[in-house]
This record gives sequence, C-alpha cells and structure tokens, in this order.
Amino acid sequence: MKNLIRNISILLLICSFWPSQSQTLSGSGEYGFQAMDYMSDSLSKAIDAQVRANSKLLQAKGMLPHNKTSNPSFDWPAKVNAGFPYCSYWGISFFVDHDTNNPNHVLDFNCGSRTYDMSGFNHDGTDIFLWPFPQYLQDQGYVEVIAAAPGILVYKADGYPDHSCIISNQYDNEIVILHSNGIYTYYGHLKKNSLTTKNIGDTIALGETVGKAGSSGASSGPHLHFGVKDSLSHIIDPFTGPCNAGNSMWTIPRTYYTPNVNAALTHSSMPVFNPCPGLETLNLKDTFNVGDTFYCIAYLRDQTIGDTLFMSLTAPDNTVYDWTFIFTISYNNSWVYEYCWYDVTDLPGNWKFTARYKGSSCEHNFVFASPLSTNQLKIAPDDAFTISPNPATGFFRISSKHTEDAGLYDRVGNKIMSLKTNGNYDVSNIPGGIYIIRSSNHAAKIVIQGRN
Ligand SMILES: [Zn+2]
Repeated sequence: MKNLIRNISILLLICSFWPSQSQTLSGSGEYGFQAMDYMSDSLSKAIDAQVRANSKLLQAKGMLPHNKTSNPSFDWPAKVNAGFPYCSYWGISFFVDHDTNNPNHVLDFNCGSRTYDMSGFNHDGTDIFLWPFPQYLQDQGYVEVIAAAPGILVYKADGYPDHSCIISNQYDNEIVILHSNGIYTYYGHLKKNSLTTKNIGDTIALGETVGKAGSSGASSGPHLHFGVKDSLSHIIDPFTGPCNAGNSMWTIPRTYYTPNVNAALTHSSMPVFNPCPGLETLNLKDTFNVGDTFYCIAYLRDQTIGDTLFMSLTAPDNTVYDWTFIFTISYNNSWVYEYCWYDVTDLPGNWKFTARYKGSSCEHNFVFASPLSTNQLKIAPDDAFTISPNPATGFFRISSKHTEDAGLYDRVGNKIMSLKTNGNYDVSNIPGGIYIIRSSNHAAKIVIQGRN
C-alpha cells in the first residue's frame, strides 16, 4: 500500500494535498552554513611538531606500547549523548583536498570538489558539521567527540573561545591520539572546557569521549575537524575512491554521500537561523490547539537534484495525509517545510509527522488538543466509512453504519461533489488524482484514476 501511494504520488507529481478547509504553502531551502576551518602552515607545523615531540618523550619514558602493527581502522568519531532529541546530528561539509596546488585547485577522494583550499592552505581533514541547529546542539553539548580507535593521548589544548565564526589563524581546542603503526587522529574545534581530564600519555579507549563538538579556533561554525596523519605528519585521507587509492580506514565503509533525514519537527513558525554565533530561534512546538497554524519541517543532509522526499501526517484515526517534495537543487544541508492551517476540530489527539528520504526515516509525535472535554468528543469508530474500490476508476462505493453528509474534496480543499456516507458515486468525469472524502467525523483518502 505504501508503495502504491508512493508510485501514484510520483506519477501525479503531487506536491501537497490536504483535506478540506486547509491552506498550505510548501518550500525548501538550504541553511547557508558550510562548516570550514583554516590553519596556517606554520601553526599547523607547530602543532604537528608538538605532537611528535610529546610522542618521542612518551616513548623515551617507555609509555608508548610497541604497537607498530597494521594501520588502525576508525569508527565514526562522534556520537550524541542521552537525551538527544532528533534522528541524527551530522553532515559532511568538506573532505581532504588532494590537489596540493592552491588557491582554487580542489580535488576530493572521489574526484569531486567537496573540499576547499585557500592561499597557502589545503584542507587536511574531514569537516563534520552539526545539523540541524548547529549552535543549539553545540550549546546543549549534545554531540560528543569520541576516539575513532584506541590509543594514547599525545596532545591536548583547551581554553580557547568556542563560538568562533571567522576564519583566522589561531589555536583551537584540540585532542590528538596516537594509534597503532604511528598513525595520529586529530579532533579539532572542540567546545571550551569540554575536553577529557586525562593527561598526555594516558590511554584512550575506542569510543571514549574526548570532548564535545564546538567552534573554537579558526572555524566558521560548530563542527568537528577530523584529521589523520602518519608518524611524519603526512596527511592521510581515511576515505578512498578514484582519487585516493588504497584501502578505506573506516571500520564500516563510508560513502561519498550519506543522505538522511536528520530531524522531522513541528514548529509554531519557521525557525530563525541567526547569524553566527547567535543561537537559532527554534520555534519548536509539539502541542497545538485546534485552528493553530503549524509547520512540519524535515531537516536533511546530502540531498541531490531529482530525489524525492516523502512526508506524511498520520491522524489519530490513522488517516494518512501524504505528499512529496522533489529536489531541484543539490544541497549538503537543507530543510523542507509545509505550512498548514488545518481544521482539526474533529480530529484532536496524537498525530505523527514522518519524513522519509532515500532509505532513512524520521518520525515526530505531536498533539492537537481538543477544546471539548473528553466526554464531548465526537470521535466514534462506527462513524468510519469505507471506500471501494480505492483506487477508483469510473465509480466508487462508500459505506458506513450511519448515513451522514459528506463531500469529495480536491487536494487544495475545493468541494467537488456532495456525498452521503452510503451510496455509489460516478466519478468518471473527475480528473485523476488524490482526493479526500470527509464527513463531520471522519476523513479518508481516495485515489481516482482518470480515464485517458
Ligand atoms: Zn576542517
């Protein structure tokens, strides 16, 4: 059934539809936040030198295990802590730049341009940004930076401001871990005072929290810069592809794009993304009163042109109102919203907003409160009606226990014909599409297959 609805939705290029007495306005956009960073060659070399010097000192003290085995494999270097309220928290804005020329000569591992350079600087890591609401997620401390592999702490810098928004040449709060085979991982732009209390030379376990994601140092906004270098501080890109041969260093294979629904949320009005370092104004709302306007917004990462986002609202009576959105632009991070004023006088209760995109799915529960007391509610299961056949071609039959007045409405709320909740109806002259049949107590979707 789900596939049928999906296929029909694509076929008819339905952008949105709603039951009667509704007004909708849909749209989308990209949050103009491309998390990036910078470090001058001299500053970068100074940190690398400190990393190697600390390692040498530890080795001299016999504090480094003899672990020159094979290269380590890396788990994802971040996670969320308990209480994180959304479906996911990250996207990738930039990879390692494999073109050593600069500026304006970029090449990522996939031979694409999801990387950057500047004069005298080639991006030397993977930038994992926080999304949605990067400033909010940073301030709440939801995103923990964790060791991608077990190792020894060999560098730690803390105390730098963590709400940086500009690219300049400055130190950041950073952790470096030494792993087997002399491979180092760098964790940059951490939140001030969030770093592990462990000291240089202490062991770090796989997945151990070493700090929280922030925006310290030369950073355009909250993100983790995850860097990998060898024993001589040569840059390693853990991703492999046509422009970076070799074996991937990820424990679980990582792809160039990882499309996902990071959040599906309801709002009282559109969120406001204030200029960095301002906190976003989320305008989240989960309980509405009858007649309230509300916004259903899906927050995504890695959406590409031509792909379809499926969104649906499930009413307390399990009626599903669904619609699709087809991307006309490729985005790293974006939102898609539907604005609705919806007369739910007869549908108070628990609703569910679902967004599905390329195999990922995210749900959000919200409530429409009834102005009526519970014993006045007119919800009665035996008021439900059935429609057959559905999809209908030429005619359909509607039946119920109680005959009521009802109407057939198109997706923008125009009443097409009057009905009773018992009877046979000729729809051979009605254009194909998705319609709503609505009585005083019940609403249901009907697909009418037009005749060519
Ligand atoms: Zn970076």
